[in-house]
Amino acid sequence: MTARPVALAALPRVDALVAAAPQLVSAHGRAAATDALRAAVDRARATVMEGRGDVPAVEDLVAAAGADLAARRPGPPRRVVNAAGVVVHTNLGRAPLSQAARRAVDEAAGYCDLEYDLATGARGARGARLEPLLAEATGAQAGIAVNNAAAALVLVLAALAAGREVLVSRGELVEIGGSFRLPEIMAAAGVTLVEVGTTNRTRAGDYHAGSDVALLLKVHPSNYRISGFVEEANVAQLAAVAGRHHGVPLVHDVGSGLLHDASDRALAGEPSVAASLRDGADLVICSGDKLLGGPQAGLVVGRIDLVASCARHPLARALRLDKLRVAALVATLEAHLRGAVEEVPVWAALRADRAALDRRAAALADRVGGTVTEGVTLVGGGSAPGQGVASPVVRLVCPRPDEVARELRDGAPPIVVRVADDAVEVDLRTVDPADDQVVAERLTAAAG
Ligand SMILES: *Cc1c(COP(=O)(O)O)cnc(C)c1O
Repeated sequence: MTARPVALAALPRVDALVAAAPQLVSAHGRAAATDALRAAVDRARATVMEGRGDVPAVEDLVAAAGADLAARRPGPPRRVVNAAGVVVHTNLGRAPLSQAARRAVDEAAGYCDLEYDLATGARGARGARLEPLLAEATGAQAGIAVNNAAAALVLVLAALAAGREVLVSRGELVEIGGSFRLPEIMAAAGVTLVEVGTTNRTRAGDYHAGSDVALLLKVHPSNYRISGFVEEANVAQLAAVAGRHHGVPLVHDVGSGLLHDASDRALAGEPSVAASLRDGADLVICSGDKLLGGPQAGLVVGRIDLVASCARHPLARALRLDKLRVAALVATLEAHLRGAVEEVPVWAALRADRAALDRRAAALADRVGGTVTEGVTLVGGGSAPGQGVASPVVRLVCPRPDEVARELRDGAPPIVVRVADDAVEVDLRTVDPADDQVVAERLTAAAG
């Protein structure tokens, strides 16, 4: 009968544990470390009282508290190796930044001349270095950038159509993911949605509804395709309708931020910003961190008077970019303007040399005892749905591929792979060649 109280007496005191865990105190602070150690002791006491186990060793109590703290305070996002075969992987932070963009972020992180004119010592304009680049990179008269494309759309609607009607095709009332639902965004921006056409067919002539129309909105169905008996009005037709029948602007949300038409097969059907403007859109909206390959941002480019209206709206201040993203976006746009698109990791991945990829895949398969099969890297990020680039994929058949994948995610750096049937699949297209070595080592260890 006395066994349990005796055992309980062996439980260490919390203050002794705190003294034994200086690393937890320095990593998380004394208060949090003490709480976590006390919770570990409480759990151990309950375990002993219920006869489910013995008093744990001090190291075990400290380790349990450490695991708790780590789970509760995971710290900033960690670098992961993306071997999952999706280039713009929303869950993995969408577009990885180029080296130049990373350097720019680092430089801007301290004091910087974000809104300061070094020549005169007077206040400078925040948009001075970014806005001309937006125009130059897209061929637009003017541009501004805000928090993301959803914010850009809210801003445009609020600035140009508050309290009035906006015509949208029923085939374009999209949900992009992460709660971006067009009807809700429009309601939040204070405009009245007027649906025209049908889900599968909308013609230019359908855009005649409404009594107080402020603008026509065309939204690229980024993440789905309607096929079969379908029809949509193109940008040129809508621009004509907007101008002729309503005298209102046409706003086109193209989504991905493809700046110019690309010949890449994986991007067929993806509208570019430049083409949309050329075809007559008055404003074009897109994301900064999809095919543009930069930081999270939303771009609004087009007619100078409309951009100015957006920039003047109070929401522009609420939705503006911080210095880190201004820095990254400027560096990314400069790479596009230099024609050095291969410096932008999204494009480096999409256009990676096939022969080099084949060699890397063969070398990895060799080292881990896998095989190379033909697969597809998805563009991802809501761009080019279901489309991708043909890629070699390393397949490693193993008894418990889910376990192997979990172990790969567990280590440092975490490696994210795909599991298909009885195999782990590694797509190197999105992996920096400098990481091939660590992928090989960790895969061998996890599957071995
Ligand atoms: C991705 C996407 C958005 C949302 O972009 P965020 O930058 O994530 O806000 C909006 N519209 C379209 C058409 C998209 O593809």
